[in-house]
Amino acid sequence: MKSCGNCGIGSKREDGSIECFKYKKIKDALENSEKCLYYTQYKFEDGELMNPLQHLILKEQDLKSKHMKNTI
Ligand code: SF4
Repeated sequence: MKSCGNCGIGSKREDGSIECFKYKKIKDALENSEKCLYYTQYKFEDGELMNPLQHLILKEQDLKSKHMKNTI
């Protein structure tokens, strides 16, 4: 299941909650994210997990290119 707890744009806090870099909110790790447009699976670069900001940038580029395709 997609949840904030396994989204690349979320950063785990010490208390187990998730800080969302897109919406600048604290989310519950188990919150269902099936409907979140920005949900992003973990991505790795050279074997290392990218940070939430990198995930967010990639997602925004991805959404923009999809949007462009739809407008042509
Ligand atoms: S981008 Fe969506 S799924 Fe990811 S942490 Fe934020 S609210 Fe949750």
